[in-house]
Amino acid sequence: MLHSQYSRSLTTPLNWVLYAIASSMTYEFTRSRVDKISENEVKAELERVAGIFEYREFGYREFDQFAEACSSSTVKRVYGSWKKALQSLDSPLKLKSKRQYTDRQLFEEMDRVWVALGHRPSRIEWESSDPNISYNTYKYTFGNWTDACLKFIEYKMGSGIEIECSEISTPTPTSTPKKSKPQRNRNVSPRLRLKVLERDDFRCVLCGRSPVTDFGVKLQIDHVVPFSKGGTTEFENLQTLCWECNIGKGDKEVGV
Ligand SMILES: [Zn+2]
Repeated sequence: MLHSQYSRSLTTPLNWVLYAIASSMTYEFTRSRVDKISENEVKAELERVAGIFEYREFGYREFDQFAEACSSSTVKRVYGSWKKALQSLDSPLKLKSKRQYTDRQLFEEMDRVWVALGHRPSRIEWESSDPNISYNTYKYTFGNWTDACLKFIEYKMGSGIEIECSEISTPTPTSTPKKSKPQRNRNVSPRLRLKVLERDDFRCVLCGRSPVTDFGVKLQIDHVVPFSKGGTTEFENLQTLCWECNIGKGDKEVGV
């Protein structure tokens, strides 16, 4: 046994190191037995997740997001390292840096599906539309599906989505105290902007037009109760309007 072999001479530092290595190895072997998952099952799970990533390079943290049968630490233990695990895959992985599609190709395919549906595709709608580019490709290229939709809308508009411009006048800065409440800030954070657009399905809530299906339409984020009349910059008080509807609205409250 390893233990008796090393415990006899634990007097030198080197022997201590050897003993420590031997002990940790013993510990590792015990743990893999506890996992009760065969190497074939680990291999199968690794292949399955690689399939989700379309055999593009992925890290162990990304693996853990999608893995069900085992964790990345089990994979690393079976293969010795994450790199070796990836090298064992049936198909060689495509490098992450190499983009398979250009933005233009991604947007053109999204255009095709979006126009055919007449509205922004959900994941299920996308996948059942027999697309040429997978949902996951968008997700990994743009970070998530909503961001992909936003980038696509901006591509169709030829510009970014503005925060209302019909009431440019800013509140007088002289009388406002330095510590104003956050909702009295008229700036809409990118995250909030995206939430509003997503809720409104990336179209004008008044006329229903979208830059995807109606040429030349430009979307803006608008305060329902105008900021100049005390309206807050909160999800409930923000809406998506096209430029024309926003101009028509002026400082009037709509739908209230
Ligand atoms: Zn409109």
